[in-house]
Amino acid sequence: QIEIIDVHKSFGNHQILKGVNVVVQEGEVVCILGPSGSGKTTFLRCINFLERANAGRIVLAGHRVDFSAATRKAIKAIRMNTAMVFQGYELFKHMTVLQNVMEGLVTVRKMPKKMATVIAERSLEKVGLYDKASAYPSQLSGGQQQRIGIARAMALDPELMLFDEPTSALDPELVDEVLAIMKELASSGKTMIIVTHEMQFAYEVADRVIFMADGKVLESGTPDQVFNHPKEARTQEFLARLN
Ligand code: ATP
Repeated sequence: QIEIIDVHKSFGNHQILKGVNVVVQEGEVVCILGPSGSGKTTFLRCINFLERANAGRIVLAGHRVDFSAATRKAIKAIRMNTAMVFQGYELFKHMTVLQNVMEGLVTVRKMPKKMATVIAERSLEKVGLYDKASAYPSQLSGGQQQRIGIARAMALDPELMLFDEPTSALDPELVDEVLAIMKELASSGKTMIIVTHEMQFAYEVADRVIFMADGKVLESGTPDQVFNHPKEARTQEFLARLN
């Protein structure tokens, strides 16, 4: 299991995360919901050290790392075992699709280029975009670009995949093709933490739903518990506003 314990994060004197605890079992899909500004994105970014948390720890793939005291080596160990899919795709615009998917394998994993090519191509096949291998990101739709973002994360075959509102920058008609790939990944047994506003997706795909508000986990349970029988008033209000 993966433990992310007691995460605190402030920007200046603005406290954003106030002791967030999330424990994820292997193969589990956890969706994090919550109002804008509750700290969901910040929490994800703290997990793989895109932001440096002020306190807390992570236990992942045999590594136990203190956020505030992590050495470069420890940070690298966590990054080797995680991969993130971003809201804005974050593809390299000057690289082809194939190069984008290979990049982490070659530079982070130090994999020989030939092997990286084979893995990247397989990853592109899985997201149905093998035929776009030599295209550049700007030649693709937003949905296709995000599928490349997912292929890039999949190629790394990480212990934990992090998704930061992967469909919220997309035109509505492109959302489903991205969610379909995430569903497949979920049913293939990947361990995933997904920040999302796609309630139907969370209801169908999550093993567990976490409701975050004001820098804390307010409520956590099965989709049925959280969506149909929310305990906390804040959760009830949040869900009511969506209907
Ligand atoms: P949303 O659903 O709108 O993306 P969120 O729950 O993901 O919201 P965060 O993006 O984590 O929330 O932001 C939480 C708070 O932290 C916000 O008030 C935001 O302005 C602040 N914040 C985030 N990143 C920084 C930063 N680098 N510097 C200063 N403040 C930041």
